[in-house]
Amino acid sequence: MRDVVILGSTGSIGTQALDVIASRREEFAVVALTAGGSQLDLLAEQVRAFAPRFVAVPDAAVEPLRAKLAGVDVEIAGDGGNETAARLPCDVVLNAITGAAGLMATLATLEAGTMLALANKESLVIGGRLVTDAAAPGQLVAVDSEHSAFAQALRAGKASEVRRLILTASGGPFRGRGRDQLTDVTPAQAMAHPTWNMGRVITINSATLVNKGLELIEAALLYGIDYDAITVVVHPTSDIHSMVEYVDGATIAQASPPDMRLPIALGLAWPDRIPDAAASYDWTIPRTWTFEPLDDEAFGAVELARRAGKAAGTAPAVYNAANEVCVDAFCAGELGFLGIVDTVGAVLDEHLTDGHVADAALSLDAVLAADAWARRRAEEICSRGAAS
Ligand code: NDP
Repeated sequence: MRDVVILGSTGSIGTQALDVIASRREEFAVVALTAGGSQLDLLAEQVRAFAPRFVAVPDAAVEPLRAKLAGVDVEIAGDGGNETAARLPCDVVLNAITGAAGLMATLATLEAGTMLALANKESLVIGGRLVTDAAAPGQLVAVDSEHSAFAQALRAGKASEVRRLILTASGGPFRGRGRDQLTDVTPAQAMAHPTWNMGRVITINSATLVNKGLELIEAALLYGIDYDAITVVVHPTSDIHSMVEYVDGATIAQASPPDMRLPIALGLAWPDRIPDAAASYDWTIPRTWTFEPLDDEAFGAVELARRAGKAAGTAPAVYNAANEVCVDAFCAGELGFLGIVDTVGAVLDEHLTDGHVADAALSLDAVLAADAWARRRAEEICSRGAAS
C-alpha cells in the first residue's frame, strides 16, 4: 500500500491521478488533497470518494468548503496548506499545482524526505539549483510525459554513455504556420490542442511552445545534460514521448498512445510499473510517425528558454513569471498571441542586463524577487500594449 498526497487534485493531472488510484484502492491510499479553490464541488466530491484525512484550499475558500463537507471527518486547512500536506508522512507527493505557486510545496516535499512525483515543472524551472540540490538521488521523478520518457530510456545505458536528449514536441495547434500567420490567433484557437487535453496554462504554453521551453530547462536540470546536447524535434502525433541517443549511435525511444495516466502511474509507483495503467498500441493497424525540425523563427520560445537556461540563476524564473502574466493577458484579450513570447523576451533581456542573479549566488529570496519583478514588468508592458 502506498500513501499518496495530491496537490492540485482538481486539475487535469490531479483528476487523472485519482482516476489511476480509483481502480487500485488496494495499492494506494489518499492521505491529503489540495486545490486552488475554484472548483469546490469537485474537491468535496473527491474528499467523499477518497477519504483523505487532510484537505487544503486558500483561506477564502475554507468556510465554503467546510459547509460542503459538513459531517465529513477531515481536517480542512487554508493558506500554507500545500506545504503542510507536502510534509505529512506518506510515500509519495504528487505536485500537480499549476505555475510558480507550486515552488514552496516542491521544496517542502524534498525537505521532508518524501518521494516527489513532479508534474509542476515550473517549480523545478524557477527553483533550479535550489530544487536539484534539495533532492536526494532518486527522490524526484518527473511526471511530464517527455521527462518520464527520458527516465525510462535512460535505464538503457550508463549516464556516461549518453550523447544527446531528443525532446519531442507536438508542435501545438499552429504547427506549420509562419510568424505572419500567428498575428490574429484567438485564445479559443490556442486552447484547441491536437493531441492532449490539459489545463489552461499548459495548453496555451503548448501553442506558443513556451511549454517546450520550460521542458528544455526541466530536462537539463533533471538529467544534468548540457543545453547544447538537447535537441527539440516536432513529432505531431505525440506517440514518441522523447528519446535518448547514446554514444554508440543507438537511440532509445519511449512510445505509447498519448495518455498522461501512464507517466502519472509510473510517477506514483516509481520505479515500478502499474499493469494496464494505460492502453498500448494495436500493431495490426497501419500507422506512420513523422518528425520535422522546429521553426524557431515562428516559435521563438524554445531558443529563448535555452538562453534563460544557460544564463541559469534567476533567468528561468523570469522567463516563467513573465509568461504566466502574458498568458492571463492573452486569455483576457489584452495581448496578442505573438505578444506573449515577445514580451517574455523583452522582460528577460532587461533582467539579463540588470538584476540577474547568477547560479552561484542563487537563493529563495532572489528567485521570489525575480519572479515578482518579472510579473510587474510584464504587466507594465502588457498594459501599454507595446508588445501585442
Ligand atoms: P490545471 O489548471 O488543470 O490544474 C491545476 C490544479 O492546481 C487545479 O487543481 C487547481 O485548483 C490547482 N491550484 C491552482 N492554484 C493552486 C494553489 N495555489 N494551491 C493548490 N492548488 C492550486 O493544470 P494541469 O493539471 O494541466 O497542470 C498541472 C501541472 O502539471 C502544470 O505544472 C503543468 O505544466 C503540468 N503538466 C500537465 C500536463 C497535462 O496533461 N495536463 C502534462 C504535463 C505536465 P482549482 O482549479 O480547483 O482552483
